[in-house]
Amino acid sequence: MQDFDPNEYDPETVAVRAGYRRTSENEHSEAIFPTSSFVFASAAEAAARFSGEVPGNIYSRFTNPTVRTFEERLAAMEGGDACVATASGMAAILAMMMGLLRSGDHVVCSRSVFGTTTVLLNNYMARFGVQVSYVPLSDVSAWGEATRPETRLYFCETPSNPLGELVDIRALAELAHARGLLLAVDNCFCTPALQRPLQLGADLVIHSATKFLDGQGRCLGGAVVGDAERVGKEVYGFLRTAGPTLSPFNAWVFLKGLETLHLRMRAHSGNALELARWLRGHPRVRAVHYPGLEEHPQHALADVQQSGYGGVLSFEVEGGREAAWSVIDGTRMLSITANLGDAKSTITHPASTTHGRLSPEMREAQGITEGLVRVAVGLESVADVQRDLARGLDRLR
Ligand SMILES: *Cc1c(COP(=O)(O)O)cnc(C)c1O
Repeated sequence: MQDFDPNEYDPETVAVRAGYRRTSENEHSEAIFPTSSFVFASAAEAAARFSGEVPGNIYSRFTNPTVRTFEERLAAMEGGDACVATASGMAAILAMMMGLLRSGDHVVCSRSVFGTTTVLLNNYMARFGVQVSYVPLSDVSAWGEATRPETRLYFCETPSNPLGELVDIRALAELAHARGLLLAVDNCFCTPALQRPLQLGADLVIHSATKFLDGQGRCLGGAVVGDAERVGKEVYGFLRTAGPTLSPFNAWVFLKGLETLHLRMRAHSGNALELARWLRGHPRVRAVHYPGLEEHPQHALADVQQSGYGGVLSFEVEGGREAAWSVIDGTRMLSITANLGDAKSTITHPASTTHGRLSPEMREAQGITEGLVRVAVGLESVADVQRDLARGLDRLR
Protein backbone atom coordinates (compact mmCIF):
# COMPACT_ATOMS: atom_id res chain seq x y z
CA MET A 1 0.00 0.00 0.00
CA GLN A 2 1.09 3.60 -0.49
CA ASP A 3 2.67 5.07 2.61
CA PHE A 4 0.57 7.71 4.32
CA ASP A 5 2.78 10.41 5.81
CA PRO A 6 0.62 12.36 8.29
CA ASN A 7 2.96 15.35 8.03
CA GLU A 8 1.76 15.95 4.49
CA TYR A 9 -1.92 16.14 5.37
CA ASP A 10 -4.46 18.24 7.26
CA PRO A 11 -5.79 17.02 10.65
CA GLU A 12 -9.18 15.92 9.26
CA THR A 13 -7.40 13.66 6.77
CA VAL A 14 -5.02 12.26 9.39
CA ALA A 15 -8.04 11.30 11.54
CA VAL A 16 -9.49 9.29 8.64
CA ARG A 17 -6.40 7.63 7.21
CA ALA A 18 -3.29 7.58 9.43
CA GLY A 19 -1.79 4.42 10.86
CA TYR A 20 -3.28 1.74 8.65
CA ARG A 21 -1.40 -0.83 6.59
CA ARG A 22 -3.77 -2.75 4.34
CA THR A 23 -3.44 -6.55 4.38
CA SER A 24 -3.00 -8.77 1.31
CA GLU A 25 -6.82 -9.04 1.11
CA ASN A 26 -7.03 -5.42 -0.04
CA GLU A 27 -9.85 -4.56 2.35
CA HIS A 28 -10.91 -0.89 2.34
CA SER A 29 -12.12 -0.54 5.95
CA GLU A 30 -9.58 -1.41 8.65
CA ALA A 31 -9.44 -5.11 9.57
CA ILE A 32 -9.98 -6.33 13.14
CA PHE A 33 -7.47 -8.85 14.46
CA PRO A 34 -9.22 -10.71 17.28
CA THR A 35 -6.33 -12.98 18.12
CA SER A 36 -4.49 -13.42 21.39
CA SER A 37 -1.25 -14.70 19.88
CA PHE A 38 0.66 -14.76 16.59
CA VAL A 39 2.31 -17.69 14.80
CA PHE A 40 5.96 -18.04 13.80
CA ALA A 41 7.35 -19.79 10.73
CA SER A 42 9.92 -21.70 12.78
CA ALA A 43 11.27 -22.19 16.25
CA ALA A 44 14.20 -19.97 15.32
CA GLU A 45 11.85 -17.16 14.26
CA ALA A 46 9.94 -17.50 17.55
CA ALA A 47 13.21 -17.16 19.44
CA ALA A 48 14.25 -14.13 17.39
CA ARG A 49 10.90 -12.38 18.04
CA PHE A 50 10.98 -13.14 21.76
CA SER A 51 14.52 -11.86 22.12
CA GLY A 52 13.54 -8.65 20.29
CA GLU A 53 16.13 -9.31 17.57
CA VAL A 54 13.39 -9.34 14.92
CA PRO A 55 10.41 -6.99 15.32
CA GLY A 56 6.85 -8.28 14.97
CA ASN A 57 3.78 -9.45 16.82
CA ILE A 58 4.05 -12.06 19.56
CA TYR A 59 1.04 -11.74 21.83
CA SER A 60 -1.81 -9.21 22.00
CA ARG A 61 -0.95 -8.06 25.50
CA PHE A 62 2.16 -6.58 23.82
CA THR A 63 1.00 -5.56 20.35
CA ASN A 64 -1.98 -6.12 18.08
CA PRO A 65 -2.37 -4.71 14.55
CA THR A 66 -5.79 -3.11 15.14
CA VAL A 67 -4.66 -1.57 18.41
CA ARG A 68 -1.46 -0.36 16.76
CA THR A 69 -3.46 1.37 14.02
CA PHE A 70 -5.45 3.23 16.68
CA GLU A 71 -2.22 4.14 18.51
CA GLU A 72 -0.50 5.42 15.39
CA ARG A 73 -3.51 7.43 14.29
CA LEU A 74 -4.03 9.06 17.68
CA ALA A 75 -0.28 9.78 18.00
CA ALA A 76 -0.36 11.50 14.60
CA MET A 77 -3.46 13.50 15.57
CA GLU A 78 -1.90 14.70 18.84
CA GLY A 79 1.50 15.27 17.24
CA GLY A 80 3.28 12.76 19.52
CA ASP A 81 5.96 10.21 18.65
CA ALA A 82 4.39 7.37 20.60
CA CYS A 83 0.99 6.27 21.87
CA VAL A 84 0.05 3.45 24.20
CA ALA A 85 -3.61 2.37 24.12
CA THR A 86 -5.20 1.05 27.30
CA ALA A 87 -8.36 -0.72 28.47
CA SER A 88 -9.89 2.48 29.86
CA GLY A 89 -9.08 6.11 30.57
CA MET A 90 -8.23 5.25 34.18
CA ALA A 91 -5.87 2.50 32.94
CA ALA A 92 -4.13 5.18 30.85
CA ILE A 93 -3.60 7.38 33.91
CA LEU A 94 -2.43 4.38 35.96
CA ALA A 95 -0.04 3.18 33.24
CA MET A 96 1.40 6.69 32.86
CA MET A 97 1.98 7.02 36.61
CA MET A 98 3.35 3.49 37.07
CA GLY A 99 5.62 3.93 34.08
CA LEU A 100 7.04 7.31 35.07
CA LEU A 101 6.81 7.72 38.87
CA ARG A 102 8.57 6.05 41.75
CA SER A 103 8.24 5.97 45.53
CA GLY A 104 9.14 9.36 47.02
CA ASP A 105 7.90 11.34 44.01
CA HIS A 106 5.37 14.13 44.39
CA VAL A 107 2.59 15.10 41.98
CA VAL A 108 0.87 18.49 41.71
CA CYS A 109 -2.66 17.95 40.41
CA SER A 110 -5.51 20.28 39.56
CA ARG A 111 -8.25 19.96 42.18
CA SER A 112 -10.85 19.87 39.40
CA VAL A 113 -9.82 16.63 37.70
CA PHE A 114 -12.04 13.61 37.09
CA GLY A 115 -13.05 12.31 40.54
CA THR A 116 -11.63 8.81 40.08
CA THR A 117 -8.23 10.32 39.21
CA THR A 118 -8.09 11.81 42.71
CA VAL A 119 -9.12 8.44 44.21
CA LEU A 120 -6.30 6.75 42.28
CA LEU A 121 -3.80 9.26 43.66
CA ASN A 122 -5.14 9.44 47.23
CA ASN A 123 -5.98 5.78 47.88
CA TYR A 124 -3.61 3.82 45.67
CA MET A 125 -0.57 5.79 44.46
CA ALA A 126 -0.17 7.04 48.04
CA ARG A 127 0.29 3.43 49.21
CA PHE A 128 3.38 3.22 47.04
CA GLY A 129 4.87 6.42 48.39
CA VAL A 130 3.69 8.90 45.77
CA GLN A 131 2.47 12.14 47.38
CA VAL A 132 0.02 14.60 45.87
CA SER A 133 -0.95 18.24 46.34
CA TYR A 134 -4.06 19.80 44.80
CA VAL A 135 -4.17 23.32 43.39
CA PRO A 136 -6.80 25.52 41.71
CA LEU A 137 -6.59 24.73 37.99
CA SER A 138 -6.21 28.17 36.43
CA ASP A 139 -3.89 29.72 39.04
CA VAL A 140 -0.43 29.04 37.54
CA SER A 141 1.38 30.67 40.48
CA ALA A 142 -0.33 28.17 42.84
CA TRP A 143 1.23 25.32 40.82
CA GLY A 144 4.63 26.92 41.34
CA GLU A 145 4.06 27.36 45.09
CA ALA A 146 2.98 23.72 45.50
CA THR A 147 6.09 22.43 43.72
CA ARG A 148 8.69 20.67 45.91
CA PRO A 149 12.19 19.38 45.15
CA GLU A 150 10.72 15.88 44.74
CA THR A 151 7.87 16.98 42.44
CA ARG A 152 8.02 15.00 39.23
CA LEU A 153 4.67 15.57 37.51
CA TYR A 154 1.97 18.22 36.94
CA PHE A 155 -1.41 16.72 36.05
CA CYS A 156 -4.40 18.69 34.77
CA GLU A 157 -7.56 18.53 32.75
CA THR A 158 -8.56 21.57 30.70
CA PRO A 159 -11.31 22.62 30.27
CA SER A 160 -12.51 21.26 33.60
CA ASN A 161 -15.62 19.24 34.34
CA PRO A 162 -18.28 20.55 34.89
CA LEU A 163 -17.45 24.28 35.14
CA GLY A 164 -15.39 24.66 31.96
CA GLU A 165 -12.47 26.32 33.71
CA LEU A 166 -9.19 26.49 31.73
CA VAL A 167 -5.49 26.64 32.47
CA ASP A 168 -2.96 28.26 30.16
CA ILE A 169 -1.17 25.09 28.98
CA ARG A 170 1.77 27.01 27.53
CA ALA A 171 2.40 28.86 30.80
CA LEU A 172 2.06 25.68 32.86
CA ALA A 173 4.44 23.80 30.53
CA GLU A 174 7.03 26.58 30.84
CA LEU A 175 6.79 26.42 34.62
CA ALA A 176 7.06 22.62 34.60
CA HIS A 177 10.13 22.66 32.38
CA ALA A 178 11.81 25.44 34.38
CA ARG A 179 11.46 23.11 37.41
CA GLY A 180 12.60 20.05 35.45
CA LEU A 181 9.33 18.14 35.63
CA LEU A 182 6.65 16.75 33.32
CA LEU A 183 3.25 18.14 32.39
CA ALA A 184 0.45 15.68 31.60
CA VAL A 185 -2.85 16.98 30.20
CA ASP A 186 -6.03 14.89 30.19
CA ASN A 187 -7.42 16.00 26.80
CA CYS A 188 -10.71 14.15 27.11
CA PHE A 189 -13.00 17.17 26.83
CA CYS A 190 -11.46 18.79 23.75
CA THR A 191 -9.83 15.86 21.91
CA PRO A 192 -7.10 16.65 19.35
CA ALA A 193 -9.83 18.02 17.08
CA LEU A 194 -10.06 21.12 19.31
CA GLN A 195 -6.85 21.22 21.35
CA ARG A 196 -3.34 19.80 20.94
CA PRO A 197 -1.52 20.06 24.29
CA LEU A 198 1.82 18.68 23.00
CA GLN A 199 1.99 21.60 20.53
CA LEU A 200 1.52 23.95 23.50
CA GLY A 201 4.44 22.39 25.37
CA ALA A 202 2.85 19.56 27.39
CA ASP A 203 4.88 16.33 27.63
CA LEU A 204 2.06 13.81 27.87
CA VAL A 205 -1.55 13.62 26.77
CA ILE A 206 -4.09 11.32 28.42
CA HIS A 207 -7.34 10.17 26.84
CA SER A 208 -10.46 8.43 27.97
CA ALA A 209 -11.38 7.14 24.50
CA THR A 210 -14.66 6.12 26.11
CA LYS A 211 -15.93 9.66 25.60
CA PHE A 212 -15.64 11.70 22.39
CA LEU A 213 -13.14 9.43 20.57
CA ASP A 214 -15.78 6.69 20.53
CA GLY A 215 -18.52 9.30 20.31
CA GLN A 216 -21.45 6.94 20.61
CA GLY A 217 -21.10 5.52 24.11
CA ARG A 218 -20.15 1.96 23.14
CA CYS A 219 -16.71 1.00 24.42
CA LEU A 220 -14.23 1.68 27.21
CA GLY A 221 -10.70 2.60 26.28
CA GLY A 222 -7.88 5.04 26.84
CA ALA A 223 -4.47 6.18 25.66
CA VAL A 224 -1.25 7.91 26.66
CA VAL A 225 0.51 9.98 23.99
CA GLY A 226 4.00 11.47 24.20
CA ASP A 227 7.62 10.86 23.24
CA ALA A 228 9.28 7.60 22.25
CA GLU A 229 11.32 7.25 25.44
CA ARG A 230 8.74 7.94 28.15
CA VAL A 231 5.64 6.60 26.41
CA GLY A 232 7.13 4.21 23.85
CA LYS A 233 9.44 2.58 26.44
CA GLU A 234 8.46 3.35 30.05
CA VAL A 235 4.66 3.44 29.82
CA TYR A 236 4.60 0.67 27.22
CA GLY A 237 6.86 -1.46 29.44
CA PHE A 238 4.32 -1.23 32.28
CA LEU A 239 1.41 -1.95 29.95
CA ARG A 240 2.85 -5.09 28.37
CA THR A 241 3.83 -6.39 31.81
CA ALA A 242 0.75 -5.52 33.85
CA GLY A 243 -1.74 -6.00 31.02
CA PRO A 244 -4.42 -3.23 31.00
CA THR A 245 -4.40 -3.62 27.22
CA LEU A 246 -7.02 -2.32 24.81
CA SER A 247 -9.05 -5.01 23.01
CA PRO A 248 -8.80 -5.08 19.19
CA PHE A 249 -12.56 -4.79 18.84
CA ASN A 250 -12.67 -1.63 20.97
CA ALA A 251 -9.70 -0.21 19.04
CA TRP A 252 -11.64 -0.76 15.82
CA VAL A 253 -14.71 1.04 17.20
CA PHE A 254 -12.46 3.99 18.16
CA LEU A 255 -10.92 4.02 14.67
CA LYS A 256 -14.41 4.43 13.23
CA GLY A 257 -15.01 7.16 15.83
CA LEU A 258 -11.85 9.05 14.86
CA GLU A 259 -12.96 9.20 11.22
CA THR A 260 -15.87 11.46 12.20
CA LEU A 261 -14.23 13.20 15.19
CA HIS A 262 -13.70 16.62 13.60
CA LEU A 263 -17.24 16.78 12.25
CA ARG A 264 -18.69 15.68 15.56
CA MET A 265 -16.63 18.03 17.73
CA ARG A 266 -17.70 20.95 15.55
CA ALA A 267 -21.34 19.89 15.86
CA HIS A 268 -21.10 19.28 19.65
CA SER A 269 -19.46 22.71 20.06
CA GLY A 270 -22.01 24.48 17.87
CA ASN A 271 -24.96 22.89 19.67
CA ALA A 272 -23.46 23.63 23.11
CA LEU A 273 -22.84 27.28 22.24
CA GLU A 274 -26.39 27.73 21.02
CA LEU A 275 -27.79 26.04 24.11
CA ALA A 276 -25.52 28.09 26.43
CA ARG A 277 -26.74 31.35 24.85
CA TRP A 278 -30.35 30.29 25.23
CA LEU A 279 -29.85 29.21 28.86
CA ARG A 280 -28.16 32.52 29.64
CA GLY A 281 -31.37 34.33 28.72
CA HIS A 282 -33.68 31.97 30.63
CA PRO A 283 -35.35 33.61 33.66
CA ARG A 284 -34.90 30.50 35.88
CA VAL A 285 -31.16 30.19 35.19
CA ARG A 286 -28.82 32.04 37.52
CA ALA A 287 -25.51 31.37 35.77
CA VAL A 288 -24.17 29.44 32.78
CA HIS A 289 -20.63 28.03 32.67
CA TYR A 290 -19.29 27.58 29.16
CA PRO A 291 -15.97 28.85 27.73
CA GLY A 292 -17.74 29.87 24.51
CA LEU A 293 -19.68 32.66 26.25
CA GLU A 294 -18.05 36.10 26.03
CA GLU A 295 -18.51 36.65 29.78
CA HIS A 296 -16.65 33.42 30.69
CA PRO A 297 -13.52 34.62 32.57
CA GLN A 298 -11.25 32.63 30.25
CA HIS A 299 -13.07 33.13 26.97
CA ALA A 300 -10.00 34.84 25.43
CA LEU A 301 -7.70 31.98 26.51
CA ALA A 302 -10.14 29.45 25.04
CA ASP A 303 -9.95 31.34 21.75
CA VAL A 304 -6.16 30.99 21.51
CA GLN A 305 -5.74 27.57 23.09
CA GLN A 306 -8.70 25.72 21.57
CA SER A 307 -10.22 25.70 18.10
CA GLY A 308 -13.71 25.12 19.55
CA TYR A 309 -15.36 25.32 22.97
CA GLY A 310 -16.44 21.69 23.36
CA GLY A 311 -19.72 19.94 24.08
CA VAL A 312 -20.07 20.25 27.85
CA LEU A 313 -21.75 23.08 29.76
CA SER A 314 -23.31 23.57 33.17
CA PHE A 315 -25.81 25.97 34.65
CA GLU A 316 -27.12 26.94 38.07
CA VAL A 317 -30.68 27.26 39.25
CA GLU A 318 -32.07 28.87 42.41
CA GLY A 319 -33.30 26.43 45.06
CA GLY A 320 -30.42 24.00 45.54
CA ARG A 321 -30.59 20.26 45.10
CA GLU A 322 -34.37 20.04 45.07
CA ALA A 323 -34.65 22.51 42.20
CA ALA A 324 -31.80 20.93 40.22
CA TRP A 325 -33.29 17.45 40.57
CA SER A 326 -36.69 18.81 39.56
CA VAL A 327 -35.19 20.26 36.34
CA ILE A 328 -33.50 16.93 35.58
CA ASP A 329 -36.61 14.87 36.29
CA GLY A 330 -38.74 17.25 34.23
CA THR A 331 -36.89 16.42 31.01
CA ARG A 332 -38.20 13.60 28.86
CA MET A 333 -35.56 13.04 26.20
CA LEU A 334 -32.18 13.83 27.79
CA SER A 335 -30.47 10.75 29.25
CA ILE A 336 -29.95 10.95 33.01
CA THR A 337 -26.45 9.52 33.07
CA ALA A 338 -22.97 10.69 34.01
CA ASN A 339 -21.42 9.73 30.68
CA LEU A 340 -20.49 12.36 28.13
CA GLY A 341 -19.11 12.59 24.62
CA ASP A 342 -22.07 10.72 23.16
CA ALA A 343 -24.39 11.55 20.26
CA LYS A 344 -27.15 11.40 22.89
CA SER A 345 -27.31 14.45 25.17
CA THR A 346 -26.92 13.64 28.85
CA ILE A 347 -27.93 15.51 32.01
CA THR A 348 -26.36 15.12 35.46
CA HIS A 349 -26.43 16.62 38.96
CA PRO A 350 -22.67 16.75 39.72
CA ALA A 351 -22.99 17.41 43.48
CA SER A 352 -24.80 14.09 44.06
CA THR A 353 -23.15 11.93 41.36
CA THR A 354 -19.77 12.65 39.75
CA HIS A 355 -18.66 14.86 42.64
CA GLY A 356 -20.73 13.13 45.36
CA ARG A 357 -17.72 11.58 47.07
CA LEU A 358 -16.12 14.95 47.77
CA SER A 359 -16.69 16.60 51.13
CA PRO A 360 -19.10 19.57 51.05
CA GLU A 361 -16.09 21.87 51.67
CA MET A 362 -14.21 20.42 48.69
CA ARG A 363 -17.29 20.83 46.50
CA GLU A 364 -17.70 24.40 47.71
CA ALA A 365 -14.02 25.15 46.92
CA GLN A 366 -14.51 23.80 43.41
CA GLY A 367 -17.74 25.71 42.81
CA ILE A 368 -19.89 22.57 42.55
CA THR A 369 -23.07 24.00 44.07
CA GLU A 370 -26.23 22.03 44.88
CA GLY A 371 -28.11 23.97 42.20
CA LEU A 372 -25.63 23.05 39.44
CA VAL A 373 -26.77 20.94 36.47
CA ARG A 374 -24.42 19.63 33.78
CA VAL A 375 -25.44 18.94 30.20
CA ALA A 376 -23.17 17.11 27.77
CA VAL A 377 -24.71 18.30 24.55
CA GLY A 378 -25.12 15.61 21.91
CA LEU A 379 -25.91 15.62 18.22
CA GLU A 380 -29.71 15.79 18.33
CA SER A 381 -31.45 18.88 16.96
CA VAL A 382 -30.45 21.57 19.43
CA ALA A 383 -34.02 22.93 19.28
CA ASP A 384 -35.24 19.60 20.66
CA VAL A 385 -32.64 19.65 23.46
CA GLN A 386 -33.74 23.19 24.27
CA ARG A 387 -37.45 22.25 24.36
CA ASP A 388 -36.64 19.32 26.63
CA LEU A 389 -34.67 21.50 29.05
CA ALA A 390 -37.44 24.08 28.96
CA ARG A 391 -39.84 21.38 30.21
CA GLY A 392 -37.55 20.87 33.19
CA LEU A 393 -36.97 24.58 33.86
CA ASP A 394 -40.69 25.36 33.58
CA ARG A 395 -41.22 23.36 36.78
CA LEU A 396 -39.39 26.06 38.74
CA ARG A 397 -42.03 28.68 39.25
C1 LIG B 1 -14.19 9.45 31.97
C2 LIG B 1 -12.95 10.17 32.22
C3 LIG B 1 -11.79 9.50 32.64
C4 LIG B 1 -11.77 8.02 32.91
O1 LIG B 1 -12.01 7.29 31.76
P1 LIG B 1 -12.62 5.79 31.78
O2 LIG B 1 -12.55 5.42 30.33
O3 LIG B 1 -14.00 5.89 32.33
O4 LIG B 1 -11.73 4.98 32.63
C5 LIG B 1 -10.65 10.24 32.82
N1 LIG B 1 -10.62 11.57 32.63
C6 LIG B 1 -11.72 12.24 32.24
C7 LIG B 1 -11.63 13.70 32.03
C8 LIG B 1 -12.91 11.59 32.03
O5 LIG B 1 -14.01 12.27 31.67
